[in-house]
Amino acid sequence: MFEAVFDGNLFKIPEITHSAHITYGFWHQALGHLAPSSMDKASRLYSDADIPGKPKDFICSSCVKSKMTRNSRPSTSRKDRN
Ligand SMILES: [Zn+2]
Repeated sequence: MFEAVFDGNLFKIPEITHSAHITYGFWHQALGHLAPSSMDKASRLYSDADIPGKPKDFICSSCVKSKMTRNSRPSTSRKDRN
């Protein structure tokens, strides 16, 4: 994030440069956690956005968690419950 600096009269906010939006992770989140194949399409369609290629070590923890499934436990038979 950025820090505002008080210069005596005004708080100055550092200029948000183009590089602030340059990470693959930023675009992945901004586009609603888009799949890598769709990110490729988006980067081709919107070349002005300069969406970088997917880094080899990119892992989105939110996506990993959303794809987790609960480990199903074998259901007990009715005989055992009663
Ligand atoms: Zn994600």
